[in-house]
Amino acid sequence: MLSSMVKCDTGSSSIIEPMQTFEALLREAEVAHGHLCAGQILGVRMAMLGCERLGIDDPKGADRKRLVTFVEIDRCATDAIAVVTGCRLGKRALKFRDWGKMAATFVDLSTDKAIRIAALESSKQRAKDLYPNIEPKNQQQMLAYRELPADELFTEEWVQILIHPREMPGYKSSRIACAQCGEGINYDREVLRDEQILCQACAFPEARYYQPLTPQTSPSKT
Ligand SMILES: [Zn+2]
Ligand SMILES: [Zn+2]
Repeated sequence: MLSSMVKCDTGSSSIIEPMQTFEALLREAEVAHGHLCAGQILGVRMAMLGCERLGIDDPKGADRKRLVTFVEIDRCATDAIAVVTGCRLGKRALKFRDWGKMAATFVDLSTDKAIRIAALESSKQRAKDLYPNIEPKNQQQMLAYRELPADELFTEEWVQILIHPREMPGYKSSRIACAQCGEGINYDREVLRDEQILCQACAFPEARYYQPLTPQTSPSKT
């Protein structure tokens, strides 16, 4: 059923609904993010470019099941990317790789095509060249990032991403209770250790992102 929605690029593209305009998306990003900043502008342009390269015209409507986006930083641009693509963490369509890089990869699940787009380090200097007299820098970049051509802002690379079925947005899994803490585990994240089914926190307590303040009771240990 999804395949019937996939547009062929054999004929003209005149029947395809245009994407929301840059300005409309920017306003939406501003509301979602809480302020307008250079990162929002870069993020909106990066995500629009990704959709354009993949031929995804309506990422939040007719094409909403086609796109998965990997982001490599948790900053301003990430919010804008979510606004443009409609990919959200809660829909399992936004994947976060904490690499501290202003880059994202847009994956079209209907074609398995994927494009990674990264912000060029030189874009800040280009903004400075374009508006040398404007301060502060954020203002300078906000103006420049609107108008600089894409190839002066980003690098693009077609890549391959193999998304495991359990990482797919629509994946259904059973819910299993951890033998130690009793909390439910979804999406096959359980670990088998000493013939016990454990959650990540119980299986690898040293790798927990939190440390309990109260002494732990371990019902399974004698
Ligand atoms: Zn911001
Ligand atoms: Zn547990």
